[in-house]
Amino acid sequence: MENKNVAAELEARLGYKKTNFYEKADEATVAAAYDYAKGYMAYLDAAKTERESVAVSIGMAEKEGYIPYTFGMELKAGGKYYYNNRGRSLYLFRVGSEDINNGIRIAAAHVDNPRLDVKQSPLYEDSGMAFFKTRYYGGIRKYQWVTIPLALHGVVVKQDGTVVNVVIGEDAGDPVLYINDLLPHLAQEQSKAPLGSAIPAENLNLLLGSRPYPGCEKDAIRLNILSILNEKYGITEEDFLSADLSAVPAAKACDVGLDRSLIGAYGHDDRVCAYPCMTALFGSDDATHTAMVILADKEEIGSDGNTGMQCEVMIDLMHEIAKALGGNPATVKANSKCLSADVTACFDPNFPEVYERRNVSMLNCGVAMSKYTGHGGKVATNDAPAEYVAWIRKIMAEGGVIWQAGDMGKTDVGGGGTVAKYIAKHNIETVDLGVPVLSMHAPIEVVSKADVYTAHQAFKVFFKA
Ligand code: MN
Ligand code: MN
Repeated sequence: MENKNVAAELEARLGYKKTNFYEKADEATVAAAYDYAKGYMAYLDAAKTERESVAVSIGMAEKEGYIPYTFGMELKAGGKYYYNNRGRSLYLFRVGSEDINNGIRIAAAHVDNPRLDVKQSPLYEDSGMAFFKTRYYGGIRKYQWVTIPLALHGVVVKQDGTVVNVVIGEDAGDPVLYINDLLPHLAQEQSKAPLGSAIPAENLNLLLGSRPYPGCEKDAIRLNILSILNEKYGITEEDFLSADLSAVPAAKACDVGLDRSLIGAYGHDDRVCAYPCMTALFGSDDATHTAMVILADKEEIGSDGNTGMQCEVMIDLMHEIAKALGGNPATVKANSKCLSADVTACFDPNFPEVYERRNVSMLNCGVAMSKYTGHGGKVATNDAPAEYVAWIRKIMAEGGVIWQAGDMGKTDVGGGGTVAKYIAKHNIETVDLGVPVLSMHAPIEVVSKADVYTAHQAFKVFFKA
């Protein structure tokens, strides 16, 4: 008995294991996590594309006193600003009372997510049905996107510059779009195909209708669709040439599980980090460091383009902020700290073979830090230095945040990247921290309310540290 107690004491003192939120949190904290989820779910429903996320986030920021920033503007301590990059990515920053040369605390999430984009010449009619051709955006598993209700979101920009906002399929009573699949009776061959090729990309055609325009002899259904779109939005077929239209799942965020401990929704990756980054920023006005939240676009397709994290605008902004506050841009970058706020894989007992149990993120064990992402031999990753990881450990411990270390899966099974490396390359200390997700990139992904709440707590501790 004596030896048993000594061993238990030694294990407690020397060993390490993950903490489950529900083992540690009191009732009030659990209630706070469930309550926090309500605001997050409202955000999910209001913001399904990067454009909608930026618009909704600006609305939230303005309520907190943030004002539009333009290059060259004077900045003052306590000032709250946002830089809206083309309505598709957003930089929120609050100037602290400390010397700007002490660096900026940056949390960077992304607000684009996998979906089906409408092609430039999308509309056609075949065998009594009208369709839109699509090009998938990001890493989707194509078989998941057939036979589910889809909504159409985005903008059509007319030649004269008029921007027409389109949302179809979200309001009660709205029609939805749909992608056909084969009936099992005739699917013997398709059923033998690997998942990745059973649904070819060119089969992802959005069903738009089947009713002909009266009196029209050829492609009457197509003409009827054009007539409906023209009546509702004032657009013509040529206007699709300059449009950003995407099909996304028509479903709203919902509680999953009889205990309501989980959230099912489209686009957790990466709104589940974007929203907590913002609530943390808004909840840390008393912090002394200058703080920044980045909501990036195009992460799912490689962070290219002028709204992705590879764009120099982040550095332009940091230089402008440094100059306006009398700092040295190089010093500001060298002393800045960043959390690359993106999701990671959550261990799924249905597929244990792809995870490495000792290093994967577990559900309800808190927001997950990934020292490295990438694939194979740490290829294409920012491998955060031990010193920075130790500092994160310290501030999380001091802030009482439940968090875990989380690797995506077995080393040679696959992999993934985040924006971390595009920020770290500017001489900014960076590590990945985000919420574990089940069924990542599926039309409906699942996260735990406990993990979402710990993300909010973690970002808040980071801004205040
Ligand atoms: Mn992501
Ligand atoms: Mn992703």
